[in-house]
Amino acid sequence: MTRSSASAPDPAGGLTADWTAREAVLLAPYAARGADSTGRRYPEPPHPYRSPYQRDRDRILHCAAFRRLSHKTQVFTGEMGDYHRTRLTHTLEVAQIARTIARALQLNEDLAEALALAHDIGHPPFGHSGEAVLDDCLRDVGGFNHNAQALRICEQLETRYPEFPGLNLTAEVLEGQRHRAEKKQPAAEPSPSPLLEVQAVDAADSIAYDAHDADDSLEIGLLTLEALVEVPLWQEASRRVAEQYADLDEAQRRRAIVHELIDRQVSDVLDAAGRALAERQIASVADVRRAPIVVRPSADLAQHKAGLEAFLFQHVYRHPDVLAKRAVAEQSLRALFAFYVHDPERLPAKFRQRVAADGPARAVGDYLAGMTDRFALDEHQRLRARQN
Ligand code: MG
Repeated sequence: MTRSSASAPDPAGGLTADWTAREAVLLAPYAARGADSTGRRYPEPPHPYRSPYQRDRDRILHCAAFRRLSHKTQVFTGEMGDYHRTRLTHTLEVAQIARTIARALQLNEDLAEALALAHDIGHPPFGHSGEAVLDDCLRDVGGFNHNAQALRICEQLETRYPEFPGLNLTAEVLEGQRHRAEKKQPAAEPSPSPLLEVQAVDAADSIAYDAHDADDSLEIGLLTLEALVEVPLWQEASRRVAEQYADLDEAQRRRAIVHELIDRQVSDVLDAAGRALAERQIASVADVRRAPIVVRPSADLAQHKAGLEAFLFQHVYRHPDVLAKRAVAEQSLRALFAFYVHDPERLPAKFRQRVAADGPARAVGDYLAGMTDRFALDEHQRLRARQN
């Protein structure tokens, strides 16, 4: 594509037409096309050279909630080392895997990437324990869920543009995130089904955390390679690595197994999706909506993944070191919530202004959910110093 100037687009084949022509060549008939987008809540003129989903991706990448993911816990807190994933690096790994799946299936990579980058921006500090605390604190006003919070951020809480609240994303990105927020159980079949790009991000999220939580746990020392051998999915990846390489040291072997684990899962999802698309003769987005979820692991892999996840739950997520860190984090967040709900005048102006419409509990919840782990712990320290 050439860009001689950023002047007004020429609808008869100029800059705007470039991305539509590109999508026409690269995308399968069942992919979501930018040209078919149902648009944004606050209508905007087309961009001279970026597709609608490209703009969504860029808006998410540049927003404050996205940057703060760098100091938010995925599973392990910052005091447990600097090797393991943060919420930001997890998000980037999900985006990479989602783009791989999207490209291989000729789906819309820009849409998949936008969805992946947004998928965890609603997470509060301290990972799922922070979420459980906020859900409890906000139980009388509808509770707290990180997927619903991502929608609040995208639709209301980000204030980057003078023309509208939130990021004014396309209906397709918001719908994908709404699907995540409304998904009651992983096995439930929503009707109509979400776009394939949404399905690709769900699959990529699961592939990423299964592999990297095992990797991080080994690095931190919560697990050993010997213990993981009882998990069939790990054992199979380990066997494949042994067939390929002789004489790897333990660290090299671990990294090779993690790589194999991701590769095996992505390949399985692509095979299963390719079969389902052919068997169900899916040839349009309308067909996608009517069909069950097709971008998902095979039944065999799903069973093996469940085995690994059960193992990680028992040995990692419930590990005494992890639980001890969580207890400190939960105490901090509860104390901050009680302090600000009692005295909402102390909230920063942006959240104080929301008290009238949303009530003090939700306004405080929004403020706390936006904090990084570090900021929340520092705030709690300051609060205690003032009270002593
Ligand atoms: Mg995630």
